[in-house]
Amino acid sequence: MRALTYKGEQVYPTKIVCLIINYHAHGAELKHALTDMPLWFLKPPQSIIGDGENIVLPPLSEIVHHEVELAVVMGKGGANIPEEEALSHVLGYTVLLDITARDLQDRYIREGRPWSIAKGFDTFCPMKLDIVPREAVPDPDNLAIELSVNGTVRQSSSTKNMIFSVSRQIAEISKVTTLERGDIIATGTPEGVGPIKEGDVLSARIASVGTLSVGVIRR
Ligand code: MG
Repeated sequence: MRALTYKGEQVYPTKIVCLIINYHAHGAELKHALTDMPLWFLKPPQSIIGDGENIVLPPLSEIVHHEVELAVVMGKGGANIPEEEALSHVLGYTVLLDITARDLQDRYIREGRPWSIAKGFDTFCPMKLDIVPREAVPDPDNLAIELSVNGTVRQSSSTKNMIFSVSRQIAEISKVTTLERGDIIATGTPEGVGPIKEGDVLSARIASVGTLSVGVIRR
C-alpha cells in the first residue's frame, strides 16, 4: 500500500471515505437525488497511485470516468468529532481523482445492488501523495478546482459549491466510524465528469493545494 507524506513523515490511510453527491450540478448531471446528510462509500487504500503514474483501465468496464476532488487527510482522529472542532483534526489537504467505472455503477444502481467494485479497482485513486499542511490552506470550503484531459478543461468549479462543508463531513462521518490519522475524505466532485481512454493525460489542480498529473493505459 502507498504511503502519503506529511512534512517528511509517512502516513498510511486505513480508509478512503468518498462523498456521493456533494455538488448540486453534479447531482443534476447524474440525475441523483440530493440527501439532507452526507452519504458516502469506501474506496480501498490499495487503489492509490501517485503523480506521474498510470490509471489502468480494467477489462471489466467499457466506460471509466474522471472525478476531481479535494481530499482531506485526517491528523488527530476520533469519533463524534464536533463540527466546530473538525478542522483542527485535519492534517492537511491534497488533490484526488475518484476514478469510476460508470457503466458498472449505473448497472448496479439500476439493479439495486452495491456498486463498490465500480470505485474499487487498483489504480482508481490517483493522488498527490505529499499532503499540504492545513495551515497553508486558509479556507478549504473556497478553493478553485479544475481538471483537464489532454489540455482541455473538463471540470472547473470551486469547493465553495460543495453542499456539505469539510467540517460537516468530518462531523457526520465520525458519527458512524472512527477516523484515524491518515484517513482520507474525498469531498465529492463538481460537474463535468466524463470518460477517459487509453493514452489520455489527466491534469488536476486545486488552488493552494497543488497539481496532479496521471496517464491512462489499458491492461
Ligand atoms: Mg466521487
